[in-house]
Amino acid sequence: MLNNPRSHGLWEASAPPAPVTVPLEETIQADVAIAGGGYAGLSCALHLAEAGKSVVLLEAYEFGFGGAGRNVGLINAGLWLMPDDVLAAAGQTHGERLLKVLGEGPALVMSLIDRHNIDCELNRKGTLHCAVGATGLKELRQRETQWLKRGAPVRLLDAQETADRVGTRAYAGALLDERAGTLQPLAYARGLARAAGAAGSRLHTSTPVVSAERIGVRWDIRTPRGHIDAQWLVVATDAYGRGPFRDTQYAQVRLPYFNLATQPLDAATLATILPGKEGVWDTKTILSSFRLDRSGRLVFGSVGALRHGGAAIHKGWARRALTRLFPRLAGIEFDHEWYGQIGMTDDAVPRLHNFGPEAVGVFGYNGRGISPGTVFGRELALLILGEKSPADLPLPTSGMKPAPLRGLKELYYEAGAQIAHLASNRI
Ligand SMILES: Cc1cc2nc3c(=O)[nH]c(=O)nc-3n(C[C@H](O)[C@H](O)[C@H](O)COP(=O)(O)OP(=O)(O)OC[C@H]3O[C@@H](n4cnc5c(N)ncnc54)[C@H](O)[C@@H]3O)c2cc1C
Repeated sequence: MLNNPRSHGLWEASAPPAPVTVPLEETIQADVAIAGGGYAGLSCALHLAEAGKSVVLLEAYEFGFGGAGRNVGLINAGLWLMPDDVLAAAGQTHGERLLKVLGEGPALVMSLIDRHNIDCELNRKGTLHCAVGATGLKELRQRETQWLKRGAPVRLLDAQETADRVGTRAYAGALLDERAGTLQPLAYARGLARAAGAAGSRLHTSTPVVSAERIGVRWDIRTPRGHIDAQWLVVATDAYGRGPFRDTQYAQVRLPYFNLATQPLDAATLATILPGKEGVWDTKTILSSFRLDRSGRLVFGSVGALRHGGAAIHKGWARRALTRLFPRLAGIEFDHEWYGQIGMTDDAVPRLHNFGPEAVGVFGYNGRGISPGTVFGRELALLILGEKSPADLPLPTSGMKPAPLRGLKELYYEAGAQIAHLASNRI
């Protein structure tokens, strides 16, 4: 996208084409205008259009331009916070509601993929959260207890079963979450766009919202060559928010995360590395993640940006770390490399914000946006349809203020990841 091979990498090279769309160049009326063509905006458009609302979705670049086209593709259940910590951050009532809807999030994603025949490499084999050392194992035991208390199908695997499933003895155990899975993230976004369009939504790409003003009881929304008069406005711009919605970006600290995709692995190697094709991430603070794609490429990632000297440092680390994890991958080449920015809130819980009367948005998925973005797109649709009241939503409404020391923290994450990866071969 934008002729930048480091923005969407493998996903852009292997996703089915996006539905054909054009920029908005006229004045139109709609029940709902949605800014942002990632999972949240597209899921909201789909659910509203299916319920008979007239919807127009405006995307500044292309569907999946933000996090939706750049991520690892782990369809996680819940947030990365431990379940009990979600209650501490969001309160008892919202916390339990949040855990319930997000625990069911992967099932929603998978049902949309099935219902709309979305070709996005869906794999329902679960995810493995892998323990690095005794500390990691202790954390996973707590996670297991807290999820089991809520009836979730999770199971702590011992070191041997983990080694059999992952193909390395590097981990002390792993938490298998059978609700979860993997997908091709850009293909999922494009498939949601196709489904939303088929349901009757108007979709316009290369159409940034440049202003949004409440005039009387309607929203007056301007794009470079178009004009929308809408009853409702939905803001789904998250960490890539710009123009009138740049605050969704500035209210968060952005954590860079990169991915590298190997050449397709041969059959003998594929029989030993993730033979069940689960998605993996580990318990380290500067975490690593990996999963296979449909053609047998290993997609390996960690914290860091592939710029300002970061590309050489992170790729060097990845080669050493992969060789340590899977000695048979020594010398493997990477065919694709890309990175994006993950929006982090100070308590790691997403934000629901009122942008004015009949104007809502959710952002701040903290690296967990595939199923939460899809879920919140649906929740906002239910709110607009009057099927849920604000009091019934899984999040309370919160204010919007710039994240303190945002620039410094972002610099610290980017430089810190380079320092951590410079000479290390640890996973
Ligand atoms: C490298 C990386 C790895 C990740 N890994 C995972 C993972 O494995 N699993 C997981 O669940 N999540 C993961 N995430 C997080 C996930 O990708 C995001 O949480 C998710 O994409 C958020 O969805 P969204 O629809 O809210 O926003 P986005 O997907 O970011 O979409 C926002 C869209 O809004 C558009 N926009 C902005 N301003 C305007 C405007 N003024 N007018 C019109 N359009 C506008 C942008 O162009 C963008 O396309 C990862 C993120 C990154 C970056």
